[in-house]
Amino acid sequence: MELQRDMGLSMIFIAHDLSVVKHISDRIVVMYLGRQMETATADTLTTAPEHPYTQALISSVLIPDPALEKARVRPILEGELPSPLAPPSGCVFRTRCPKVQASCAGATARK
Ligand code: SF4
Repeated sequence: MELQRDMGLSMIFIAHDLSVVKHISDRIVVMYLGRQMETATADTLTTAPEHPYTQALISSVLIPDPALEKARVRPILEGELPSPLAPPSGCVFRTRCPKVQASCAGATARK
């Protein structure tokens, strides 16, 4: 963050821990099987995620309060993660998406 500020740099930070990503990022791109699922500012993406995969990722971040953590409702993604070597046609998330429709076989998920 100091390098970005002092040198005016843009950086790409790749990680699976969204709490760390949120802390150091201005914008976040959520990827699934190498495809872009959702892009938004860090605040928007972590407080009001629109894509079901982003919602599931956000819900997996632990809340450091046992009472809140126990009371929260988490979306559960059903289904197996497809092979990246043979991803589903259309939207690659459709085999696990709770909002899947017939048209998703020919669609790409992107916000
Ligand atoms: S395109 Fe269909 S399967 Fe993909 S995220 Fe949107 S609703 Fe879900």
